[in-house]
Amino acid sequence: MQNRFHIATLGCKLNYSESSHIARELQKNGFEKSSYPDYFILNTCTVTGVAEKKARSLIMNWHRRFPNSIIIVIGCFAARDKELVENLPGVAKVFGSEDKMNVIPFLLEKTLIEKPLFFAAFSSSERTRSFLKIQDGCDYHCSYCAVARVRGKSRSDTIANVLTNLEKIAQLNCKEVVLTGVNTGDFGRGNGETFTQLLKEIDNRKLIERVRISSIEPNLITGEMIKMFANSNILMPHFHIPLQSGSNRVLAAMKRRYKTELFEDIVYQINTAMPHACIAVDMISGFPSETEADFEETIRFLNSMPISYLHVFTYSKRPQTQAAEMKPQMKDSMKKERTKILLHLSEIKKISFYNKHLNTKRDVLFEEDIKNGSIFGFTDNYIRISVPFNENLINQIKKIELTELNTTKSHCKKTITNSD
Ligand code: SF4
Repeated sequence: MQNRFHIATLGCKLNYSESSHIARELQKNGFEKSSYPDYFILNTCTVTGVAEKKARSLIMNWHRRFPNSIIIVIGCFAARDKELVENLPGVAKVFGSEDKMNVIPFLLEKTLIEKPLFFAAFSSSERTRSFLKIQDGCDYHCSYCAVARVRGKSRSDTIANVLTNLEKIAQLNCKEVVLTGVNTGDFGRGNGETFTQLLKEIDNRKLIERVRISSIEPNLITGEMIKMFANSNILMPHFHIPLQSGSNRVLAAMKRRYKTELFEDIVYQINTAMPHACIAVDMISGFPSETEADFEETIRFLNSMPISYLHVFTYSKRPQTQAAEMKPQMKDSMKKERTKILLHLSEIKKISFYNKHLNTKRDVLFEEDIKNGSIFGFTDNYIRISVPFNENLINQIKKIELTELNTTKSHCKKTITNSD
């Protein structure tokens, strides 16, 4: 057996940054990426039933095509039901979420490390943007969530270590970092540090050109944080905030730690300080017991908010969660219908957000995203932009005028007006 491996990832950005870290470590130690691997590694997700189904079918497919290869399964699905995953055909070894980095010493035949409190990771597969893991686990107990249980207690990197990782990422000539975690805003708890302090240091040290934060709970966004974003050239005016429902009754059943009033206050604070900021909002459609009136209240609430678009997740019953036991569970057809309505609303919001920025100029970071003679990038406030392809634009930040809206593809076409 040689040292060829293939790693596949399902789920969140955190998983992607961890997989990237695992691949880098293996390559440093003489392993090679290959499509004919001796070892398959699958980093799994448990957030929906669909994610688990995808994991099973990948495993079955690998085992059928490469019966002699060793399959190692790591991550949330492996943690949620270790026994089930261990018994899937071809699976030789399983590591849950807290000890997933043990796949490295396991393959290098070193002694397995004890479950670490926190292991840092960043992705480096994309040239322009890297996902840097700064926090893991969650101490909240949202009634629909299986992720918090399998990812374990909230724990974080230190500010000093995050800054070191930012330096390393900048050395790879990467221009943008997304700070990620399971509950990112909870950073620092237990270390005597806070997320606000981290952002302040990042802003002061200017180690990298652009920093975004992945999803942050509304109850963890502070006025001080918003002010910092408004006055920074590094912290991008782009917020991703889970709301999940616009009905306080449903939010209580979800065991969320805020009411719509708090969410509203935070969104207006952001909008007042940065009218150009992108505010993306997570929603769950089809939560058990959500009535027609609750859903209508949600739509009314969303309509009234200056938000930019929605990420809509159709509720999926996760084993061993409180919501799985709630009655009544919603019929699939009804869930689908509500998802469709929310997605439609999201499109309206996005078009109106993009329209607001037509004929304005914004800084765009061009990615290695090339299609049909166009190259794509994102503005500071996360508007997707296309211009005619020019190789010299890759990984460059350019000031662009937004000249035309492409509603079918949900992006704006732009003209480069200068290159500063
Ligand atoms: S905040 Fe809620 S939904 Fe998010 S990881 Fe924690 S328990 Fe799960």
